[in-house]
Amino acid sequence: MEKKTQQFKAEIAEMLDLVVNSLYSKKEIFLRELISNASDAIDRAKFLSLTDKALVADNPEWKIQIAADKGAKTLMISDNGIGMDAAELEQNLGTIASSGTKKFREMLKEKGGESLPELIGQFGVGFYAAFMVADKVTVETMKRGTDGSCKWESDMSGGYTISDGDRDFPGTSITLHLRDDQLDYLDWWRVSELVKKYSDFIAYPITFRQLDVPKDEKEEDKKSREEREAKPLNTMVALWKRAKKDVKQEEYDEFYKHLTHDWEAPFETIPFGAEGQVEFKALLFIPKKATMELFMPNQKRGLSLYVRNVFIGDDIEMLLPTWLRFVKGVVDSSDLPLNVSREMLQDDAVIQKIKSAVTAKVLSALEDIKKKDAKRYDEFFTSFGAVLKEGVHVDWENADRIKKLLKWPSARTDAGKRIFLDDYVKDMASGQKDIYYLVSEREEDARRSPQLEAARKHGCDVLLFCDPVDEYLTESLREFDGKKFVDVAKGDVSFGSDDEKKAEKDANEKAAKDLKPFLDAVKKELESHVSDVRVSTRLVDSPCCLVQQEHALPPSMVRMMRAMKQDVPDEKRILEVNPNHPLIAKVKGLEGDALKDAVTLLYDSALVAEGSPVPDGAKFAQLLAALMMK
Ligand code: ADP
Repeated sequence: MEKKTQQFKAEIAEMLDLVVNSLYSKKEIFLRELISNASDAIDRAKFLSLTDKALVADNPEWKIQIAADKGAKTLMISDNGIGMDAAELEQNLGTIASSGTKKFREMLKEKGGESLPELIGQFGVGFYAAFMVADKVTVETMKRGTDGSCKWESDMSGGYTISDGDRDFPGTSITLHLRDDQLDYLDWWRVSELVKKYSDFIAYPITFRQLDVPKDEKEEDKKSREEREAKPLNTMVALWKRAKKDVKQEEYDEFYKHLTHDWEAPFETIPFGAEGQVEFKALLFIPKKATMELFMPNQKRGLSLYVRNVFIGDDIEMLLPTWLRFVKGVVDSSDLPLNVSREMLQDDAVIQKIKSAVTAKVLSALEDIKKKDAKRYDEFFTSFGAVLKEGVHVDWENADRIKKLLKWPSARTDAGKRIFLDDYVKDMASGQKDIYYLVSEREEDARRSPQLEAARKHGCDVLLFCDPVDEYLTESLREFDGKKFVDVAKGDVSFGSDDEKKAEKDANEKAAKDLKPFLDAVKKELESHVSDVRVSTRLVDSPCCLVQQEHALPPSMVRMMRAMKQDVPDEKRILEVNPNHPLIAKVKGLEGDALKDAVTLLYDSALVAEGSPVPDGAKFAQLLAALMMK
């Protein structure tokens, strides 16, 4: 191959510049990133060799070696993993996952330069962390199953070159030409300390070798150096196989960061094992914050699976229900065959059992947090509540347990506070049979809604469903603790005891009779906007409001169907009038244009009250001005 020089894609050049020129305190994480890549490369080689024996014709002893040369000021990290061919080299080290840099830049702006090292890991640009300590990096690699090697080299400023390499066995070596102020990474003690700190759990031995030994090295120094260099720097014990009491939280945290590329420690660590019908060990994590990808289709998700120490994959979806897709971690089982394929996993009984056990474990961990620490639970719920809610919709088996973990704001809570269904039920008014809710896009609108008036008057609280998923949820919530969920903005609702309801009904019928000519006139006037005009049971202080018919499609459903180009006719709502309101008493006697204008104003003000736009804003303003003049 001819040596060719390439410029970095613009986004890489920009990111390298950020890496090198920002202030940061923890340059040392470059080693963690390179070891992590080496370990991934061996994982992949091991896995692919299950079905392609030719890949391991050299019968490798899997390992990661670090070699230091003080004279040349170089540190080399090499592995005998899968390696790369020229095209992969170019693809992997010349571009970044396209969405990466933009997000990276935004986060950097938000968090400041100090958090740069963490961000590097999170955005899958770990390799470039090498440039924090080196001014030139050389990568030599040979892809397993091929016999040519190639070489990538860059000093950042002048782009990079790719040419034929000299490596004669499969794997990858990365040589860092260290900056003069970073030479302590050439010392055994420093490297050893970093490996223990960040990479102790890596499953392959990581060894250190001093390349330029002084010629006059004393015999005893030589002996102790050789002893030291013969031993791996890491213990290699998979964390999930160690008893919880023997593992420090910092070790779990480092493992979590290795696994997820998150830059923060996890919110919750859940190690557990099962014996009996199926045997497996698992180490699960709940992250602190939700990432955008949680709501994107086709994003990588699931747990990492190991079968008898062989890494099978890091996104085994079948191990987790979709509504727990925020959970990260590892499952290790010896009950699965080594030659499992993804298709086999789909229907595998063992996988199904592990999935149920994992689900139950996460639910009980959440129940525990809910019981012990309300504030912490709220932190969790703010990040992942919306995903958890999906469980009610799709997982009938666990729906009851999930419902108990959900929270909503209510008409009685302060803004931003939420309550559990248990709390709602505990505080129900005497005689109240149902659980009331109101769907609205914004919490502020919901709180001001006239629909809440009668519920308030009767001492009934109303849950405010303002999360976009809530609307879908109304279909599947059905009941809780034997109580039905009832939408206060739909169909006929009435509150209070049976006697009160009867009295109200009678009063309503009478009012409907008295107001009939007025109601008919309003209906005629608003024909094109509403399906009916009737006397309301839900209003106290407001003159009127708009309600949906009992079986109307929720507005979000309508929006979705329209987005899918389905023809959904506009569904007209019902205008409800408060017969006891002085305004209605006043307006009902009007005739001609005066009635027309009053009706328009009534209808528009009902829309304004719920936060909806009015059909003709100019007209509304004009009528209002005229009214004020009077
Ligand atoms: P990430 O590891 O998060 O994908 P990096 O920038 O660290 O991001 O690496 C980019 C890609 O380069 C990796 O996904 C991998 O395909 C490849 N790569 C890096 N290091 C090695 C290695 N030691 N052996 C084989 N491939 C590697």
